[in-house]
Amino acid sequence: MEEKHYFLICAIILYVVVVYLFSRLGKSREIGPRRLFWLSLFLTPIIGIAFYLSSQELKMIHYTERKFKCERCGYVFSEDYPNCPFCEKEGVNQELKPVDQIMT
Ligand SMILES: [Zn+2]
Repeated sequence: MEEKHYFLICAIILYVVVVYLFSRLGKSREIGPRRLFWLSLFLTPIIGIAFYLSSQELKMIHYTERKFKCERCGYVFSEDYPNCPFCEKEGVNQELKPVDQIMT
């Protein structure tokens, strides 16, 4: 094999490795590692960096929902009642406390 070809193949392998390592950064971004890999491979990592930086950071997707909890009986309501309906039946006026429940 000619030395020139050998050098070229080494350069290509190095290039792919660099692009691959860089693309792994995309895991924490909206763009994702796979798309970042192909973008960087064909459009050079310089373009990849631009895409990476403009891509939003991936947020942990869990949202909270406003619920209302009775501290006496422990029941959680999705609606805000002036008093806990269950405790009211027992003749106790127990106010509900707003809580943020994490939904998965
Ligand atoms: Zn209650």
